[in-house]
Amino acid sequence: MSESPFHDVKPGRLPAAAYAQRLQAAEMPALTPMQAVIEAERCLYCFDAPCQTACPTGIDVPSFIHRIADGNVRGAAQAILSANPLGGMCARVCPTEVLCEQACLRNTHEDKPAEIGLLQRYATDHLMAHPGAPLFSRAPATGRRVAVVGADGISHNEMEDAKPEHIAAGCNVLLHAMLERAGT
Ligand code: SF4
Repeated sequence: MSESPFHDVKPGRLPAAAYAQRLQAAEMPALTPMQAVIEAERCLYCFDAPCQTACPTGIDVPSFIHRIADGNVRGAAQAILSANPLGGMCARVCPTEVLCEQACLRNTHEDKPAEIGLLQRYATDHLMAHPGAPLFSRAPATGRRVAVVGADGISHNEMEDAKPEHIAAGCNVLLHAMLERAGT
């Protein structure tokens, strides 16, 4: 019998302190509504935004930040989740400091990027707290199925296969995660 290619995939490979350090961003205090608007207004809404190019899931960063500045937080969440259904989790575990925030033009002007990760967390947390009507609707089932293996920050590239348009097209999307909670 051949050895499983997943023999090295298991939880708890790092010491607890290492996990605590890596998840430090998740412990950062959330933005208040006022802080979120002030931070959103630091964005330059760049054309061909480098932050969006640097995002592995292609979130339209200037668009969602602009919506926060306009008070349309639900719309901001929709812009995020339409590109990345795990946008709330990624706002906590994605290494934004070497992706979108490293590419942010505010590094040049103010030596400090727009707080894209915190703004993304603000918008998605707001939606979770005030869900309202569903943002996306499911088309009649076609019988097609899409499986995504992994629900952590590293595997979010795979979410290309689980975007809302697949669900809207009637595909059944199944997310396989080893642990109970996505992002762990
Ligand atoms: S690069 Fe920075 S300033 Fe430009 S759109 Fe992205 S977040 Fe805003």
